[in-house]
Amino acid sequence: MTSRDVIAGVDLGGTKIYSLIATVDGDVLGSDRCMTEAAGGPAVVVQRIAESVRRALDAAGSSIDAISGVGISSPGPCDPSRGLVTDAPNLPGFHNIPLTKLVSEALDVPAVLENDANAAAYGEYRFGAGKGFDDLLFITLGTGIGGGIIIDGRVYAGASGAAGEVGHLILKEDGPPCNCGSRGCLEALSSGPAMAREASEALASGRAPGLARIVGEDVPTMEQVYEAARQGDAACREVIQRGGRYLGLALVGLLDVFNPRALILGGGLTNLRDLYIDPAIEIARRGAFPQVIADVTIRTAELGDAAGALGAAALLPERLPR
Ligand SMILES: [Zn+2]
Repeated sequence: MTSRDVIAGVDLGGTKIYSLIATVDGDVLGSDRCMTEAAGGPAVVVQRIAESVRRALDAAGSSIDAISGVGISSPGPCDPSRGLVTDAPNLPGFHNIPLTKLVSEALDVPAVLENDANAAAYGEYRFGAGKGFDDLLFITLGTGIGGGIIIDGRVYAGASGAAGEVGHLILKEDGPPCNCGSRGCLEALSSGPAMAREASEALASGRAPGLARIVGEDVPTMEQVYEAARQGDAACREVIQRGGRYLGLALVGLLDVFNPRALILGGGLTNLRDLYIDPAIEIARRGAFPQVIADVTIRTAELGDAAGALGAAALLPERLPR
């Protein structure tokens, strides 16, 4: 393929870089995964991104001439209009770094930038579970809890580009401390690490014998907590169900505020269907306005970890200066 009929996207993470080349319909033709080597600082990371994109092009049997640019999904706060990563806690040295300019110079094609949750929301909207729903709320549930808002088919960024931070809705006064500095945020109550931490407290006080059989003396992972819950450990079940209830409360508020056509739930915790996702959706169905519930389609995300790179790639045409 030599004409500009493929799109290129990069999902930049604190640990890994995932690059892909796809058709304009979102079919992935080739991809590359590599370590970010974030400790090397911005210059090393930019080089890693450029090499990864070149390998993805090779894997797709394509070349740099075939792409009109690269869309980058970036972790943490960024300023898409200026192409800046303003502050990325997992990327040392990334403070007001002009990432689009640097990647563009390294690859000699234009680049655009979007924060990871917004990019994933746009990816699901264009190519995944949210296809056809112009007003859409996307929530990713995993190590962190993030969100993206699509209104009239466009990413809603807000005044400062910070819109969609659903993980920091405060749901419990004086609740557990959150990475953002507040207490009782959804992320501090319902994320994987939050629930794993609660389960390890139960473990330490001898209330989780099922979990103790699985992990022994080790610190439990969220997967192990879920495994113990499925095998009947009552404390682990309660921890996950409580996380699901807080998620449900957040969904009630979000659905009533945005009245979206679709709610898309993504991230690793969507695997906790019976104890976490289903009860949360049930709380949302009972608590939100009946008309809001009648008009919303609730789905699990379809693109997995390709959502961010695909979404960023798809944003390229509208973000590039003409
Ligand atoms: Zn928070």
